[in-house]
Amino acid sequence: MPSKARVVIIGGGISGCSVAYHLAKVGWTDVLLLERKRLTSGTTWHAAGLIGQLRASQNMTRLAKYSADLYGRLEAETGVATGMRENGSITVALSEERKQEIYRQATLARAFGVDVQEISPRQVKELYPYLNVSDVVGAVHLPRDGQCDPANIAMALAKGARQLGAEIIENVKAIAVHDRERRVTGVTWAKGKERGVIETDLVVNCGGMWARDLAARSGVTLPLHACEHFYIVTQAIEDLSRLPVLRVPDECAYYKEDAGKMLLGAFEPRAKPWGTNGISEDFCFDQLPEDLEHFEPILSKAVRRMPMLETAGIRTFFNGPESFTPDDRYYLGEAPELKGYWVAAGYNSVGIASAGGAGFALAHWMNDGGPPFDLWEVDIRRAQSFQRNRRYLRERVAETLGLLYADHFPYRQVVTSRGVRRSPLHEHLKTRGAVFGEVAGWERANWFARTGQKAEYSYSWRRQNWFDNQREEHLAVRSGVGLFDMTSFGKIRIEGKDALTLVQRVCANEMDVAPGRVVYTQMLNSRGGIESDLTVTRLSTTVFLAVVGAATLRRDLAWLRKHLAPEELAVITDVTAAESVLALMGPKAREVITKISPQDFSNEAFPFGTAQEIEVGMGLARAQRMTYVGELGWELYISSDQAAHVFECLEEAGREAGLKLCGLHSLDSCRIEKAFRHFGHDITDEDHVLEAGLGFAVKIAKGGFIGRDAVLRKKAQGLEKRLLQFRLRDPEPLLFHNEAVVRDGEIVSIVRSGNYGHHLGGAIGLAYVPCPGQTEEEILASKYEIEVAGERFAADVALRPMYDPKSERTRV
Ligand SMILES: Cc1cc2nc3c(=O)[nH]c(=O)nc-3n(C[C@H](O)[C@H](O)[C@H](O)COP(=O)(O)OP(=O)(O)OC[C@H]3O[C@@H](n4cnc5c(N)ncnc54)[C@H](O)[C@@H]3O)c2cc1C
Repeated sequence: MPSKARVVIIGGGISGCSVAYHLAKVGWTDVLLLERKRLTSGTTWHAAGLIGQLRASQNMTRLAKYSADLYGRLEAETGVATGMRENGSITVALSEERKQEIYRQATLARAFGVDVQEISPRQVKELYPYLNVSDVVGAVHLPRDGQCDPANIAMALAKGARQLGAEIIENVKAIAVHDRERRVTGVTWAKGKERGVIETDLVVNCGGMWARDLAARSGVTLPLHACEHFYIVTQAIEDLSRLPVLRVPDECAYYKEDAGKMLLGAFEPRAKPWGTNGISEDFCFDQLPEDLEHFEPILSKAVRRMPMLETAGIRTFFNGPESFTPDDRYYLGEAPELKGYWVAAGYNSVGIASAGGAGFALAHWMNDGGPPFDLWEVDIRRAQSFQRNRRYLRERVAETLGLLYADHFPYRQVVTSRGVRRSPLHEHLKTRGAVFGEVAGWERANWFARTGQKAEYSYSWRRQNWFDNQREEHLAVRSGVGLFDMTSFGKIRIEGKDALTLVQRVCANEMDVAPGRVVYTQMLNSRGGIESDLTVTRLSTTVFLAVVGAATLRRDLAWLRKHLAPEELAVITDVTAAESVLALMGPKAREVITKISPQDFSNEAFPFGTAQEIEVGMGLARAQRMTYVGELGWELYISSDQAAHVFECLEEAGREAGLKLCGLHSLDSCRIEKAFRHFGHDITDEDHVLEAGLGFAVKIAKGGFIGRDAVLRKKAQGLEKRLLQFRLRDPEPLLFHNEAVVRDGEIVSIVRSGNYGHHLGGAIGLAYVPCPGQTEEEILASKYEIEVAGERFAADVALRPMYDPKSERTRV
């Protein structure tokens, strides 16, 4: 056994093999992979082998396409027969809603160069004669999709890695990852009774369903949990022709023809979690007991869908464990808790299709110090510490397995494992009609039902049941006053003699401001990409409070800690739970707040971008004059114990002014009218701050901040793309995100975020448009359309916010 390695990869399933292959490809020579038993003996060996490219987002499509392309050439490269067959795939819709979804995905895939066509039920029948298409309403066909032999793909990757110098050792288990001063230092291994240590700075946990417990032993949060996952294989069916892969998500089923037999796999709505208390040490190429009763509802629908199954006879009933995550997305990246601890795990039954791309992305991330493009969706830093709780995971994954084939309606909320993190105002809001959504475990009021209206979502791709509620809330904010509970904001206290040095280094705006000033800023990476979008309040000369999104808190904490130099003194503390936040927004905000606070809220005494401690009701709060909706308003940061009191005072004081309780949906529709950017959608680590239109918040003159050189370079070279605001002229269609942007007849990009502009009277979207060397006039002179589920709609376009372009309303 080696005593040293540049990197130790733990786990020899498809994930570990792909990471090893890609690290070797980028030129790393000292790569070591340890597998506790035999390669592929966990989950990989028994996968069905579907390779699909239709994904819900731009970069996941990019990675899935990469996997498909890679697997197509692996056999020639390594000589291992991969069984890769480009027989295409068909996804059929049995409802108009499903048709909307798959047509929208097709538009997205097309925008990224995936070969995809919408096809009619008649065309489905031609491609798949065995199928009952009487109730099929639409379908999409991807001729370049396919199927493979998953174990052999992993073996081919392993062989490719070995050819490039990587070492792969089987029957050796990593039993502990060691660290010192929050950095990985080595791995202890076991082979039978033999033990040893490998010195290394880097590990990649590719341990599949074992990965969570291994990570937990190092204090790393990796929330995943195995579920039983089923398929059956029929006896040989006479004269069965070669067929594309078929997905019938409305019946939770997929079909794969292989060597004259039919494989039918299931994504049942309520899955069976497995292995909560650990997995047997002997597990190796194991299967779980069959459960025909559980599979029966899928099978009976399948027999109606494909009558030949009735007589085919089942040859194999397969049940194998696979790991699922709370949000159905896998984990990639460096764990925020421990430097040098990387992960690539939790593949939610699409690990074969995903691992090629994931390995590629991770290898580049490790090699280059940053991801090759925005990977926030799958970034390990989105995982919350509490999600390590096994009861939480067990209940959640029972739902997430089935969600893979459920309708992916916009705003769809999970129903399991809810209520873990709540604002002190939760019950107040609930009794007033709040309908909650969940982000990072937080329950947040998304909209408020009227008296007599059912306080629950009714989902659709068209206007959902809360559209009018959102409209009323939105217009109340525009013309009266609204109150939002924003307690879920992440709050980070940065305190100490070097706090200013740190915030000056990581933030692009000028942070050396007078105490009491609130600064809107971005944290940039060295490419000028946006790592975080935040406001920072200087509470005193040595104390700053950074306010970030609920979902990005752990990412932001990690970024700050990473950039604090060892010799600097600053304490970075997550104080999220200490304060509640109420945002009072709208032209009548001043009228309401002055009824319950003796402070002077005039423009002169309390200008925009400042914070003051105020008396409110019988309590105290810090009021910050900021807005994310584009109106006059204050965010009140209230010690959690006083939040209910202040809420009740505000509610009482606002009665005359018609104060309206508002949810996150109207917050978003207001912000998009004002073209305020949303991190994770409009702005990511891949988007340059200048191209995002946020140059006004970058202070080059202050010197020495991360990303400054990239800003100067971009200034010299000119912008490649710009973030524009669009409004559909037809007031009917909706934009969510990922719709295609068409410029003068050509698809040029996708909508990053969308919502309805209830004041502007149409769907609004923000999207980047490539425009190297073009003037503003040239950009605006083009004809723009947005393609929604295959249909194109004319759009107005603007470089400045369509709502209140001069920001006069926020400063009244
Ligand atoms: C029934 C079924 C059908 C599926 N069909 C498809 C499909 O059609 N398409 C698709 O894309 N995906 C499919 N999947 C999912 C796919 O199989 C998985 O996502 C994928 O195999 C996961 O790979 P992995 O490398 O993360 O995990 P694994 O294959 O489980 O590999 C993890 C490895 O880590 C090793 N290990 C763990 N701990 C240690 C340690 N401490 N030291 C050393 N080694 C360790 C284990 O022994 C194991 O070999 C299917 C899954 C199932 C169950």
